[in-house]
Amino acid sequence: MSSVYRNVPRVRLNSIAYESLRQQVLRRDGWRCQSCSAMSNLEVHHQVFRSHLGNDSKENLITLCAICHGVKHARI
Ligand SMILES: [Zn+2]
Ligand SMILES: [Zn+2]
Repeated sequence: MSSVYRNVPRVRLNSIAYESLRQQVLRRDGWRCQSCSAMSNLEVHHQVFRSHLGNDSKENLITLCAICHGVKHARI
């Protein structure tokens, strides 16, 4: 088992654009979870799922910590 080298997947332009959008959302929300104000393990949550009419706009995104994010998805 010596296959150390793996093909690095090409970075999609989409994911770069999304990453910069994510940064904007985090900055807008002051790098705090909008539910509990935690400042660590932050993630960006789509308030309307992408499969719906949810698009990748800042209005549709909210900063949540990993815990609150998990709760959001558990409830549905
Ligand atoms: Zn939280
Ligand atoms: Zn989410």
